[in-house]
Amino acid sequence: MAIKLNQRVLECAMQKPRIRISTRARRWRLSVDAQGGVELCWPAGLNPALADEVLWAHRAWIARHQRRQCAHFEQVRAAYDARLRQLPLLGEWVALTDRPEALYRHHAQLFFAQWCDRFCQQLQVRYRRITIRDPKTRWGSCSVRGNLSFSWRLMKAPVFVARYVAAHECGHLVHPNHSSRFWALMAELTPDYPRAQQWLKEQAAFLHYDPWRDDGRDDG
Ligand SMILES: [Zn+2]
Repeated sequence: MAIKLNQRVLECAMQKPRIRISTRARRWRLSVDAQGGVELCWPAGLNPALADEVLWAHRAWIARHQRRQCAHFEQVRAAYDARLRQLPLLGEWVALTDRPEALYRHHAQLFFAQWCDRFCQQLQVRYRRITIRDPKTRWGSCSVRGNLSFSWRLMKAPVFVARYVAAHECGHLVHPNHSSRFWALMAELTPDYPRAQQWLKEQAAFLHYDPWRDDGRDDG
């Protein structure tokens, strides 16, 4: 059954009130949902022409509740929006910038310099240079000349993961292979390295996905 609302009722509400006919309800009941939508539950036996009058008589109550609910809904939405504009950075969430990649590269340079210095001191070796890159198939590398390179994407990972990759490449300055002696060295430098390896295996897509790009894909 359709109930026609007259203009003055429509004007008093931000959204058109929804009228639900109920065969079980004995009294009409007015409610405002979380998004400010108004519903009038109307008993099937009651004259529909009166619905208009009820809405008009309660316009102040409706407006008050709509304002309250809409304010709350805006807060909720703002909380979500704030999260959507954040980036993962070493286990924290930081504000999304205009140039996320530049932010990551900046932090990667500082992070890997700091950790490689520490690991190399421990290992009594030296590296020549650290380069921050975006390789498709690896997270880090160590050249025969002692140059280290790391993916800036590791800055999206928790600290223990990025730290492991730093230790891994520094370890190659001692053992340029994946021998048992190399892994024994890893156990010394970063005892929780199996957890970091597991994390990298499971979260590769998380690191490679860039939500700020149109298609989310890394195109270079
Ligand atoms: Zn390796």
